[in-house]
Amino acid sequence: MNAAWHAAHVLPRNATRPERVRWHRTHQKACACRPVPASLRDDVAAVGRAAKPRLKARARSGSPR
Ligand SMILES: [Zn+2]
Repeated sequence: MNAAWHAAHVLPRNATRPERVRWHRTHQKACACRPVPASLRDDVAAVGRAAKPRLKARARSGSPR
């Protein structure tokens, strides 16, 4: 367990759902001493996908003229 990370990233008891999602996403990378709750897992995965750069985003750039 990454105790230093936990000391620096305390999740408030009244944290909102987006805050929890972000906390768990960061936690998975820094520590992961416990799994993401099933109720948040989909959201955490969705945030992870959205954060990745899309390499094939601009494939159609060349127009003849
Ligand atoms: Zn942890």
